[in-house]
Amino acid sequence: MQGSSLKTLKLVRMYSIPVSDPRVSELITWYLETLQKAINIIWESIEWKYRFPRVEEKKGKLRVRVPDKLKVPELPKSKSFKKKLRDDLLRECPYAKHWVDAVIRTAYSIMKTWRKRYLKGRARKVKPRAKKRFARCKITLMKVNYEEKKIRITVKPGEYIEVSWSSRWFTRRVEGWRVGEVVLKDDRVLIPFKSTRIMEVRNVVAWDSNELSLDGFSPRTGFIMVDLKPLQSMKITYERKKRIAQSKGLKSIYEKYVTREHNREKDFMNKLAKGLTKLLPNTIHVFEDLGKEDLVSRRKTPKDRRKRNARTPWKLIQKKLSEKAITVKVSPKNTSRTCPRCGCVVKTRVGRLFKCPRCGFELDRQKLASINIYLKHSKMRGFPHSDEPEKTMKEELWVGVTPSGRSPMIWIPMKRGPESDEAKGRELGIKQYQAL
Ligand SMILES: [Zn+2]
Repeated sequence: MQGSSLKTLKLVRMYSIPVSDPRVSELITWYLETLQKAINIIWESIEWKYRFPRVEEKKGKLRVRVPDKLKVPELPKSKSFKKKLRDDLLRECPYAKHWVDAVIRTAYSIMKTWRKRYLKGRARKVKPRAKKRFARCKITLMKVNYEEKKIRITVKPGEYIEVSWSSRWFTRRVEGWRVGEVVLKDDRVLIPFKSTRIMEVRNVVAWDSNELSLDGFSPRTGFIMVDLKPLQSMKITYERKKRIAQSKGLKSIYEKYVTREHNREKDFMNKLAKGLTKLLPNTIHVFEDLGKEDLVSRRKTPKDRRKRNARTPWKLIQKKLSEKAITVKVSPKNTSRTCPRCGCVVKTRVGRLFKCPRCGFELDRQKLASINIYLKHSKMRGFPHSDEPEKTMKEELWVGVTPSGRSPMIWIPMKRGPESDEAKGRELGIKQYQAL
């Protein structure tokens, strides 16, 4: 990529502050009950509209397309409905009125998520249940004092809960950041801090998420391989532990493993994202727009592949990275079977080596997708479809991640010639080799 451009990076950091105030739990209990009431009322008022098959023309042929769902749920949106809902809920509200508005907003967001999932065949026609104990605050219920680093949350008119983020371990990290809408939990308050940063973009790296690795490509750096094996083996270990606990009927131990696995995975991802942004500064990261559900869905993928995919938390990788760097998504269509040199789309997908029947281009299939993802992004931005990547295809950088809780990771700066620093790279655990 030539030259550079400026981009705005939106940053959000979540921190929690412990609270011990019985009023918080009381409020959450009311919030949850009211939320379920709101969901019930919205659910009763859903209109199930018929959707008719459509006739479409594709390549000169007419086709009838029958939708997956013949009846589509439409959520009530009218002002009069919302007013009545608000009035109904206000009747039994001992709290500030804005809490009812906060409940209604959460209810709609839960219902919208359910609707989306239902239409995609991922949720059943069952009314959603509000189970998680939390209360999402509205900004109108908060007063933030940035000088004293204090948030005052209105519970009832004239009654407040105060939390302060001064002299916390993260205080310096969010200096000058804005506070977003907080979430109340029984024992803590979650505070999202927001900030924007202008970033100079000088590099683009396209990532393909694979089972055991994250494979990246950039004309500047060549191939980058991030080893995910430590993460996988950690997950396999916990799968085994969980299975044993389950077979013995030890529910609390099972739960303990679930939490531990989750924490270790999150920790791994945080370190990975942090390391990648350090290793690749001023970079746009391009990913495939891949829903995990699509990969895990029964319809397309065989069972063992599904299980392996479920182990790789693509979405979490993307999410964590997007908190620290600029990320972009492109369509995953044909990325693993298009020839990056001539654009030919190959039908079959067998073997480790991709070979183009038209121009004879050959490449390890694992690396193919990342180049195609890169090209898709370049085209989107108006770069010509050239053979430019081939120049850099001969280099590869291996990046090692240490997932264990405490040990630090080694991330290597990439200012090095392919040959000269090879010995140094080896010393630091980086392997560099001819990719072709
Ligand atoms: Zn070709």
